[in-house]
Order: sequence, then C-alpha cells, then structure tokens
Amino acid sequence: MQELESLKDRISSPHKIVITTHHKPDADALGSSLGMANYLKKKGHEVTVVTPSDYPYFLQWMKGNEEVLNFEDPNQRAKAVEKVLAADTIFCMDFSCLKRVHDLSSFITKSKAFIVNIDHHQDPKDFADFQYLSTKAAATCELVYELIVKLGDKSLIDKDIADCLYAGIMTDTGGFRHPNTTKNVHLITAELIELGADNTRISRLIYDTNSVNRLKFIGFAITRRLTILEDLQTAYFSISKKDLRKYSSQTGDTEGLVNYALSLDGIKIAALFTEREDGIKISFRSTEDITVNKFAAEFFDGGGHKNAAGGKSSLSLKETTEKFEKLIKENQKTLFNKLELIHEKN
Ligand code: 5GP
Ligand code: MN
Repeated sequence: MQELESLKDRISSPHKIVITTHHKPDADALGSSLGMANYLKKKGHEVTVVTPSDYPYFLQWMKGNEEVLNFEDPNQRAKAVEKVLAADTIFCMDFSCLKRVHDLSSFITKSKAFIVNIDHHQDPKDFADFQYLSTKAAATCELVYELIVKLGDKSLIDKDIADCLYAGIMTDTGGFRHPNTTKNVHLITAELIELGADNTRISRLIYDTNSVNRLKFIGFAITRRLTILEDLQTAYFSISKKDLRKYSSQTGDTEGLVNYALSLDGIKIAALFTEREDGIKISFRSTEDITVNKFAAEFFDGGGHKNAAGGKSSLSLKETTEKFEKLIKENQKTLFNKLELIHEKN
C-alpha cells in the first residue's frame, strides 16, 4: 500500500510520460496502453504511447490511436527515441521481460526514467521501479482498471477509457471463454459497460471486420497448412513467407488462426508457426492442465500463460516444425501427465 502511495505521489504532478508495450501489440497490450494514456492525460500529464512495432488494423480505433509512435516506422523512430530518452516516467504494459520490446529495450535501459511495470504474465523479470503485477489477472486491462480505482480515480474513467480496457479483457479471455474468465472479470466488465464501454461495437470491430483476403487465407491455411497429430492430441499450422505474400497478409491476419487447430475435437495442444522477416514466430495454445508456457520457455525462447504462450526460432520453418513434433513426442509424459492421472482416477 505504501508503494501505491509512491505512484500516487508521482502522478499527482505533471510529468513527461511514455507508455510502451510488447512487440506486435494485441488488444490487451494496446488497450492497456491507450487506456492508461487517456487516464494520465486527464491527470494533466504529457503522454506519448510508443509501440515497438505496428499492430493490426482491427485495433486502430481506440482513442489516441492517431498519436501512437511506431518505433519500427522509419518516419517515427527518431521521435519515438527522443520521447523515450526525455521521459521521466515510462509505463511498461503487458510484458514482464524487456526482451519483448525488441530493439526499443536499449533506449528504455538508457533513459533515466522511473519505470512502472503493469502486467499479468508468469515469471516476471525485475526491471521496474514500481510493479503492479498479478498472474491471476486475465488481462493487463483488468489491472489498469483496478489500479485507477485504487488510486481513487474511478470517476475519471470515461467511455473512451472504458472501451480500451473492455477490448483487452474481451480478447485475453477469448471472448469470455477461457478459464481466466473469473467472477472478477465479469464484475469489472459490468462496471466498464456502465461507464460507457460499447461491448457490441467493440466485438464487431475486433472480430467481424475481416477482409475477403483474410477469410480466404484462413480457408487456405485450414485446408493446406494444418497438420494433425491425432495420437499426440496436437495440431499445428505452418505458414511460410510465400503464403503470407500470396494472400497479401496484413499485420493481424494470423491472429486467432491457432484457435482453429485447438477447436478440433480431441486436440489439446495447438501451435502456429509463422515465417517472418526476423525468424519463425510461434504461438502455442493448450486446454485443461497442459502447461505450454514452460514448454515455450524451455525449447523456444518464449513464455506467456499456462494455456497461451509464444516463442521464436531461428531455424527454418521445416526444421522448426520437425523440432516441435520431436519435442512433443519426447515430452508427452510431462505435458500430458497430469491429465492422464485425472483420467485414470475417473
Ligand atoms: P500470441 O500467441 O498471441 O502471440 O501470445 C500468447 C501469449 O504468449 C501472450 O500472452 C504473449 O504475451 C505471450 N508471448 C508471445 N510470444 C512470446 C515470447 O516470445 N516470449 C514470451 N515470454 N511471451 C510471449
Ligand atoms: Mn495480456
């Protein structure tokens, strides 16, 4: 509580604040960043949101979107760096390890700013001066809501802030379906709707704004790029750079694809391997007691949550999927162990 007072003191007088989040921000990353930014602006601060990369078109509606600086855009990079180096406070949202901001991390380390970390990922690294962390939270947006309330500023949450925070909670719970959809999630969501969040509009903007190309790409991926390992209760997509080019893929077009693999009856582990400019990006998903974040951390330089994690590989796409298949086979016991015990008991 004393710590919270120190943050309260810090934000009680105007500061130069930068808010950043992880590479390729999702709705929780961007919603928590812009939700926090809109709140801090109302408190009288000079606030800049800097993202380490671009983000999907279906997130480009939140208040403050137009002013976000993309560190990877050559036209915005210098300004982004200038803001980071001049900031006296930097908020790091929805990541727990500086590696996740890629090359932006060296500037954060160089800056003399007071670092605030708000996040819900497992195994947080200790890089901040003030932490507001909980692995029990479904979304960083849930923590931002709680923090604003604890700071005594609930009355400052307007429709725009509520929209940003609702978006992150909706997507990080998979549309209120994942096991992280707690009573607290529903209570906070109810509050956000009361404060003006337009839930129907937000779900339409995020889930129902597919381009024809994207829908065709999903169809192609399901028919041609899905491998099902029935015996291992595992299914995965493998998408090459050429595939992405063929369907004029935009940032965000592969978002959610991995869930089609997990939606198969009997499949408990799903993965998506995407060949990007800088290597293979991997998404892992699992059901029930299968822990994919440890698997991601141990073998694919990644991490995340129990049932949703990510990682990377510098091997070729083919070598990476071969490595994955081999590791799933070798680690069957550890991955599925708990489940087998549960099934044996029944
Ligand atoms: P996604 O598959 O949607 O990119 O990520 C799923 C979850 O894993 C998210 O919570 C995300 O923050 C986390 N995650 C994704 N990639 C990485 C990574 O390379 N390292 C770590 N530590 N976490 C990741
Ligand atoms: Mn999140």
